[in-house]
Amino acid sequence: MVKFTDSHCHLDFADFDQSRPTLIHQLTQSGIGRIIIPGVSAKHWQRQLDTCGSFSGCYFGFGIHPWWINNARQDDLTKLERYLSTKSRVVALGEIGLDAHIDDMDKQIRFFEQQLSLANTLALPVLIHHRQTHHLIIPILKQMRLTHGGVIHAFSGSYQQAKQYLGLGFKLGIGGVITYERAKKTRHAVAKLPLDSLVLETDAPSMPLQGQQGQANSPTNVVKVFQHLCDLREEPPTKIAAQIEQNCEQLFTF
Ligand SMILES: [Zn+2]
Repeated sequence: MVKFTDSHCHLDFADFDQSRPTLIHQLTQSGIGRIIIPGVSAKHWQRQLDTCGSFSGCYFGFGIHPWWINNARQDDLTKLERYLSTKSRVVALGEIGLDAHIDDMDKQIRFFEQQLSLANTLALPVLIHHRQTHHLIIPILKQMRLTHGGVIHAFSGSYQQAKQYLGLGFKLGIGGVITYERAKKTRHAVAKLPLDSLVLETDAPSMPLQGQQGQANSPTNVVKVFQHLCDLREEPPTKIAAQIEQNCEQLFTF
């Protein structure tokens, strides 16, 4: 059976409190062997472990996400280092990034840079959130020179922007965006980028696929994202599935 990794799913969020046990059972049956659960704020990190740690296919990232930046404190970074270096099944630092719709860009940039620097210290890849911030993120990544790369989560953007991230050692998280016909620029980029630069993700419970707007997204949809990816690509599905899994294994130490 083909195996899939959902490289970005917030399975710890309260949205899944009722459905989590059933969902975990369905995941195994659908061939989704691994899920990476990114962390969003110091308050959430322990919850990730408590709610999802019993599923052996769950792996973790810890980080401070721009949407939670207003409550972030400098000493959260000390706690972050402790979580990343002492907990088991940690494969990334994140979710971190810059979001143009969130106030206090100075504070966002400060925490982003400090967390990138910590990723280098701990030799971990990073999971990066962006929203209308490619122009800010790319120069910072160029300057910081990450040693273990990472994923540009929920990539949407042009082929040229994608190539810049690849040049910096990043892979692109391919999710619900490509299921929307109107996302022409992103679909065009994903169709012609090298296959070894892509990983699959759902960002569940966010980012519903086309046709499922208004419903909570589920990590089981990673199979549907894969089918949409196959529609955009020339290669046979078995080759795409194998390469995508290899990409995850290259980036993350499971
Ligand atoms: Zn996320």
